[in-house]
Amino acid sequence: MDRRQFIKAAGATVAAGTALASVAIAEEAAPQEYEIAETLQADMVVVGGGGGGIGAAAQAVENGLNVIILEKTGFIGGTCSRAHGIFAVESSIQKEAGVTTTREELFTKCMDYHHWLADTDVTMTLFKKSAETIDWMIDKGVTFSGVERSGDSERTWHNPVSSVGDALAVLEAYAEENGAIFLTETPAVDLIMEDGKVAAVIAHRLEDDAYIKVEAPVCLLASGGFICSREMVEKYTPFKFDNFFNLGSVGRDGDGINMGLKAGAQLHGMSALMLAGGTIESVAMSDQIRMGFGRSPILWLNEKGKRFADETTYGNFTFSGHIMCLQDQVYSLMDDKALQYFIENGAAFNHGKFENARQELAEFANTPEHPDVFQADTLEELAELMGLDPATVVESITAYNTYCDEGLDKDYGKTNWLWKLETPPYYAARLKSAVYTSVGGLKINGKAEVLDAEKNPIPGLYAAGGDAGGLYGDSYDVIICAGSQVGATVNFGRIAADQAVIYLGK
Ligand SMILES: Cc1cc2nc3c(=O)[nH]c(=O)nc-3n(C[C@H](O)[C@H](O)[C@H](O)COP(=O)(O)OP(=O)(O)OC[C@H]3O[C@@H](n4cnc5c(N)ncnc54)[C@H](O)[C@@H]3O)c2cc1C
Repeated sequence: MDRRQFIKAAGATVAAGTALASVAIAEEAAPQEYEIAETLQADMVVVGGGGGGIGAAAQAVENGLNVIILEKTGFIGGTCSRAHGIFAVESSIQKEAGVTTTREELFTKCMDYHHWLADTDVTMTLFKKSAETIDWMIDKGVTFSGVERSGDSERTWHNPVSSVGDALAVLEAYAEENGAIFLTETPAVDLIMEDGKVAAVIAHRLEDDAYIKVEAPVCLLASGGFICSREMVEKYTPFKFDNFFNLGSVGRDGDGINMGLKAGAQLHGMSALMLAGGTIESVAMSDQIRMGFGRSPILWLNEKGKRFADETTYGNFTFSGHIMCLQDQVYSLMDDKALQYFIENGAAFNHGKFENARQELAEFANTPEHPDVFQADTLEELAELMGLDPATVVESITAYNTYCDEGLDKDYGKTNWLWKLETPPYYAARLKSAVYTSVGGLKINGKAEVLDAEKNPIPGLYAAGGDAGGLYGDSYDVIICAGSQVGATVNFGRIAADQAVIYLGK
C-alpha cells in the first residue's frame, strides 16, 4: 500500500497542513499535482461522513459493497447529528399515531409551496422511499419517540428518542461492523474522472500530511453543502455571509459541489438557505432569553432603527430568517408588561417557557460578557445602548404604538400581537438570523445521479443531502414537510448505494 505515484488533475486547491482544506470554486481552479502516498480500492467512495454518508455507508454494506467514507473533520455525524427529526410520509409510526396524510396530497402542497421549482422526480421519490427508510432505521436499532409537527407543519417530523445524532451513531456502528471504513481528518480534495466516468477521489490525510487515492467507480458527494463558504454564499444566494451565524458544523465549504461542477454537473436551487430568524448570537441555543426574544413577535427594528416586517412572520422561521437576514442588524424590543406575560405564559410559537427571563435579563443587561441584551428606563436610553439614533427609534415606536391602538399595522399589515411599548423598563435584544445549512446543490434525479448540462447522468457520480439540489424552490420548507432535509440526506444516501449495485452490475 505504499506505492507512490503522481496524479495530475485539474481543478483542486489544497491547503496543505491546514485542518480544513477545501476545493476551489470550479471555474477558478488550477491544475494540481499530488504525490500519492497510498492507494486504496473500494466499490464506492463517499465524500463526507455526515447524514448522507452514514446512510449510504449502512446501505452499501447491506448491499455487499466495499465502501470508504472520507471525512474532513475528526467527527463522524456532521451537521445532521444536530438535527431533531427526519421526514417521512405514510410511515408505520404515522399510521400508529393516526396520521392519515397521503403522499399525493403532500406532494401537491409541497410543489405549490415551491412554486413548482422543486424537482418533481426528486420530491416524489423522497415521498415514496421515506416510510420504508423509517422501518429500515428501526430494523437497524434506531428507536423513535413518535412523529411531531414542527410549528404548524404536517405531522411528518419523526423524532428519534434522543436525537438524530444518536440514530446516526446506530447506523454508523452497523456500517462499521459490516466493513465500512470511515477515515476521519481525511478531506477529499479532488475527484478524478477517466473517460467521463468516476475513477477515484484524492484525499488529504492530515495526520501525516499525505495524499491518498481511493480508486472507486462510484462516488457519492455528501459533504453537506456550502454554508461555510463566504464566497459561495455571496455568489449563489441573496444573503450576506455576515448577516447570519452558523448553527451547524464547520467545514461545509462546498467541496462536493465544486467537485461535481468540475465533472460537468449542473446546479439546482442554490439560492435557498435553511435559515431561522431571530436568535441571539452570544446566548446558548436553549437559553430562555434567546427563546423569549427570538421567538416573540413584538417589535423588530433594523440597523436604521426602522421596522421592516410584520413580526408574526416568525410562524414560518424560514421566512423570518429571510427578512431578518436581508437586514444588516435586527433588534427585538419589548416592554415590561410583555416580559411579564412571557414569564407567565411562555414564549410565542410553542418554543418553551420564558422562565427566569427577568433574572437572566438583569444579568445580561449591558454586561461585557453578554453584549446583545439591553435594558433601560426610557426608549431614548435604550436606543443609545443599542447604538441607534434615538429620534428614529422613538419615531418608529410611536408609529407602532398608534397602530396598536388602531388594531392595524398600516406599514406591514400586522393584525396580531399588536402590543404597545409603554411600560418601562424597556428591553431590547440584538438578533441575528441563524443558519442551519444550504439546501441547493448539484442537480440530481430520483436515482441520486448527478446530472450534466444536458440532464444526462454523469457515470458513477451521485449526490445527497446538502450537496444535492432538487427538493426546494427558493425557500426551505419548514411548514409542510418538517424534517425534509434530513429525510433527503438519509434517503438519497441510501438510494445512491442501491444504484451503485446496479451501476456496478453486482
Ligand atoms: C441545529 C440544527 C438542527 C437541525 N434540525 C433539522 C431537523 O430537525 N430536520 C431536518 O430535516 N434538518 C435539520 N437540520 C439540517 C440538517 O441537519 C442538515 O441539513 C443535514 O444534516 C445535511 O446532511 P449532510 O449529510 O448533507 O451534511 P452533514 O451532516 O453536515 O455532513 C457533511 C459532512 O461532510 C464533511 N465534509 C465537508 N467537506 C468534506 C470534504 N472535502 N471531504 C470529506 N468530508 C467533508 C463535513 O465535515 C461533514 O461531516 C438541522 C441543522 C442544524 C444545524
